[in-house]
Amino acid sequence: MTESRKLIDSFGRVHNNLRISVTDRCNIRCFYCMPADNVEFMPRAELLTFEEIERVVRVGTSLGIDRLRLTGGEPLVRRELPSLVARLAEVPGIIDIGLTTNAVLLDELAQPLHDAGLKRLNISLDALDPEVFRKVTRRDSYDKVIAGIDAARRAGFRPIKLNAVSIRGLTEDQIIPFAELARETDTEVRFIEFMPLDADSKWQNDKVLTAASIKKILEDQFGELRPVPKSNPSAPASDFEFADGKGRIGLIASVSEPFCGSCNRFRLTADGKLRNCLFSLEETDIRPLIRESGTDEDIATAMLQCVAAKKAGHQINSSDFVQPDRPMYSIGG
Ligand code: SF4
Repeated sequence: MTESRKLIDSFGRVHNNLRISVTDRCNIRCFYCMPADNVEFMPRAELLTFEEIERVVRVGTSLGIDRLRLTGGEPLVRRELPSLVARLAEVPGIIDIGLTTNAVLLDELAQPLHDAGLKRLNISLDALDPEVFRKVTRRDSYDKVIAGIDAARRAGFRPIKLNAVSIRGLTEDQIIPFAELARETDTEVRFIEFMPLDADSKWQNDKVLTAASIKKILEDQFGELRPVPKSNPSAPASDFEFADGKGRIGLIASVSEPFCGSCNRFRLTADGKLRNCLFSLEETDIRPLIRESGTDEDIATAMLQCVAAKKAGHQINSSDFVQPDRPMYSIGG
């Protein structure tokens, strides 16, 4: 594969990780992502079919894509998702498929997903207290999530990774319980800073519980945290071990310590738009190419141009930051 046929942006970042949103629908309503009510979801006819997603992935592998992450909305609400995983696992060049889920439907789907070839699971869970869970998600699904995590463990997913969005004034008291879970089980907990991608555009910087403040809370309780060298330089999380070697946590400091310099990710939305960054204000619509007369070469060109146009990083901390029109639930994490 010649350099010119790789997904490299003007900063020299090589993109081999495609995040695929398979739906904008979800079965809970996290306030930092979705409106509480009256959510207008994409018409089903606008969602890419599994065949169309597979075609985009095949073209992507010819440009160096080898890692996929399936996201939503909530990907498990898309029917027959294990069959999409099985399809994508067969695409030559794909070495890793991950999925990010809220685990509400994982109890019945963990085994079929594992059997289909899914390698890694990240479970979004922001609280271990059902009351705080309800405040964040505006739904009573806590028990189903816990049952889903147990099913994932039975199916053989290791390690179980929990993604917990940390919000000042709401989830501080969840940090120690999550750390104790990480210390007592084979669960890795990653604390994620609250990002401005909420549908109601109510995000405020003073609601961000920074990675540094989370680290201080943990070190005040458990002593020094030891950094774990990154196995994947593009991984968003900075991992730490507790001084006594019991357990591991990760900090994803998207806002306070951006990691855009090593970003290798780009995205395909459920309705067929390419986004070169989570905070991109532009998109490339490839659905007409896929559904009408476009060739694989046309799709490849669109991907190359999309990545070539990628900016250095998000502008969250600058005065001219503009929140994307498209909220998190229709971009996918
Ligand atoms: S904000 Fe954009 S450039 Fe930065 S890490 Fe996220 S996707 Fe990559």
